Amino acid sequence: MFESLSERLGGVFDRLRGRGALSENDVRAALREVRIALLEADVALPVVRDFVEQVTEAAIGQAVLRSITPGQQVVKIVSDALTAMLGSEAVDLQLDVTPPAVVMMVGLQGSGKTTTTAKIARRLREKGRKKVLMASLDVNRPAAQEQLAVLGVQAEVATLPIVPGQQPVDIARRALSAAKLQGFDVLMLDTAGRLHVDQALMDEMKAVASVSEPDEILLVVDSLTGQDAVNVATSFAGQVSLTGVVLTRMDGDARGGAALSMRAVTGKPIKFVGTGEKLDGLELFQPARVAGRILGMGDVVSLVERAAETIKQEDAEKLADRLAKGKFDLNDLRSQLTQMRKMGGLGALASMLPGIAKVKNAMASNAVDDKILIRMDAIISSMTKAERARPEILSAKRKIRVAKGSGTTVQEVNKILKMHQEMATMMKRMKKMGGLKGLGALFG
Ligand code: GDP
Repeated sequence: MFESLSERLGGVFDRLRGRGALSENDVRAALREVRIALLEADVALPVVRDFVEQVTEAAIGQAVLRSITPGQQVVKIVSDALTAMLGSEAVDLQLDVTPPAVVMMVGLQGSGKTTTTAKIARRLREKGRKKVLMASLDVNRPAAQEQLAVLGVQAEVATLPIVPGQQPVDIARRALSAAKLQGFDVLMLDTAGRLHVDQALMDEMKAVASVSEPDEILLVVDSLTGQDAVNVATSFAGQVSLTGVVLTRMDGDARGGAALSMRAVTGKPIKFVGTGEKLDGLELFQPARVAGRILGMGDVVSLVERAAETIKQEDAEKLADRLAKGKFDLNDLRSQLTQMRKMGGLGALASMLPGIAKVKNAMASNAVDDKILIRMDAIISSMTKAERARPEILSAKRKIRVAKGSGTTVQEVNKILKMHQEMATMMKRMKKMGGLKGLGALFG
């Protein structure tokens, strides 16, 4: 997400921060570069214009220029303006307390609407502890209703039984009464998509909305379509009262123009972003965190949350216990690798850590990164239990066997052993410095 923009802005800000004093001209020059970076990221022109104007006004004030850290202050001003442009606060679903609350999903075909319906239902079930029913009203696309049923099984969310030939408004009525009768908290209606915004689609949406009286009407758009996504949102917003937008495929969107313009152009909040094909690829959209990611300040909060969700408490405790004793063998390394993969691989981790653009450049593409994790895992798995516990017994002959077993080379085996050794040395040093207190000393 936002890699190219982040890289561009990172360069501009590094130069600003690196200087002691700043003149008005320095700031104006930097902001010209910010303007170009935003335009290249495909942010809508009026949005860029407003943004730069607002930031310029705040940044060339004498208080900023005369301060001890003018560069830092300018970066802070840009960061605040970016957060405001993205919508300031996260806006979660606002569901009626008297069940069933109704969430209606709308959007063009292929935008990711059906997948997102299942992702949100899963999130409501897991995080909100809600009993959710999903119903597909898509009678145009063959197998759309079956697709939702399959996703329902994966998400462990109930779907309305399919009645062949029934029309959208009637399905909506049936879904609503089933939800009431069977005590569901939330009903999610996945409406039919179209290839383009057309009147028949809009009329159908309005009819469904009038029988189901949704708490939320969420528009799903594909972030990769950039300005088109914003235009689609504008035309939908003119026809139905959208309560929010979900931007899908943010995982593949290096530019991020749609995300950056959406709020300002449509006045509708981005509620969620889709970050992968799988059902756990959904995040609540948090403007301040996203601004932090874009400006290369990292999103450590999300990283920690992701870790807490993925890593079992007991595993973490077991590892902490071993580290406290100064132990860190290849078994420990392997479980660390598995956890990294579960957290979305190196690419996902790098994008949340500070200085992302630089790290990313140094590494190859995401796919390759994750292949490295898989190869490392294969190597360690090809060792015997004794070798994993005491890597020093790996003779040249044993290394050849491990390389063959894992389909890698002896050089790669050596690389892992060296990496493990370095990590183990670091852990020992930490232990000497007094455990976790030592960790602070090491980095601080
Ligand atoms: P619909 O026609 O709008 O209902 O679209 P679908 O839900 O069938 O999605 C179309 C394709 O986009 C499917 O292959 C999904 O797996 C994929 N997709 C949906 N959301 C995301 C996302 O956030 N990231 C990625 N990478 N793929 C997605």
